[in-house]
Amino acid sequence: MAEADPFAPAAAAGIHRLRIPTPFAVGRVNVYLVEDEPLTLIDSGPNSGTSLDQLERQLAELGHRIEDLELILVSHQHIDHIGLVDILARRSGANVAAIDRLVPFVEGYRDAATADDEFAAELMLRHGISPDVVQALRTVSQAARAWGARADVTRVLRDGEEIELRDRTLRVAFRPGHSPTDTVFHDAERRVLFAADHLLAEISSNPLLTRPLDGGERPRALIDYLHSLSLTREMDVDLVLPGHGDPITNHRDLIDRRFALHRRRADKIHALIMERSRSAHELAQALWGDIAVSQAYLTLSEVIGHTDILVSEGRVREVEENGVVRYEAVPERETTEGTA
Ligand SMILES: [Zn+2]
Repeated sequence: MAEADPFAPAAAAGIHRLRIPTPFAVGRVNVYLVEDEPLTLIDSGPNSGTSLDQLERQLAELGHRIEDLELILVSHQHIDHIGLVDILARRSGANVAAIDRLVPFVEGYRDAATADDEFAAELMLRHGISPDVVQALRTVSQAARAWGARADVTRVLRDGEEIELRDRTLRVAFRPGHSPTDTVFHDAERRVLFAADHLLAEISSNPLLTRPLDGGERPRALIDYLHSLSLTREMDVDLVLPGHGDPITNHRDLIDRRFALHRRRADKIHALIMERSRSAHELAQALWGDIAVSQAYLTLSEVIGHTDILVSEGRVREVEENGVVRYEAVPERETTEGTA
């Protein structure tokens, strides 16, 4: 007997996955069409002619045109998800809905992306990445800028709010971590969750270090992410529809595997710091060897996510010297005194 198609209940509920190409290592991005009133699209794909052609063709196969779209929901700030929103909204007149914190980013995309690059450059220098690598990454990032685009948000969503469609209700839930604006949409009646990049089956969602959108302290991306995962773990859902790759049918097992992965990685990083104090970049090299320039920020984010955990647990502390941060172990005795 053939294995049941995990996507079948979604298809029966008028949900279709459009697989839109991107120029990024992650491969295609999932855009979901929800056949309801209003006719709804969740995310859009990157801003490129190829992606737009693909979207148009895949919509046509389902009997729809771009001009028919009435509502576009935006899951988070990454360009493979927001890039085509403006073009689609202009052609269709669809409403564009995004959670409150995401609005300034989407509406002020160019300035937001520039500010992100500045934040990233400063952070990389502070954590031991050499200036020439930082400069190279800036160039890469500027070249990628055009895959995103600004868009007007016509409906501002709040955490916990419900979006009423004719045949279903989608509850908005804020789940920061992978980015500071991750939003998931929950159809409680059908036990379906549109999770975008908050939870992916094949790869652990990088909690990228990101500029604080409110101008305050840098978000502790991984700590926020693990908290968000614990909230999602509590949700009663049968099917999670992610932003990349295949649907997820057992989200609790997957989340438990993610928790275990991050615990192991934090302990491994702690052991490296126990050997001797190191910068985040040196830790990344110790873990993954010579790191490709294109991966420098990702791996740095991954390491600092875990040192944030170790700092919060009082096992490690930051020491700054000549503008570069090193992590050093807090002796056990001090930790126990600290918690006594
Ligand atoms: Zn993303």
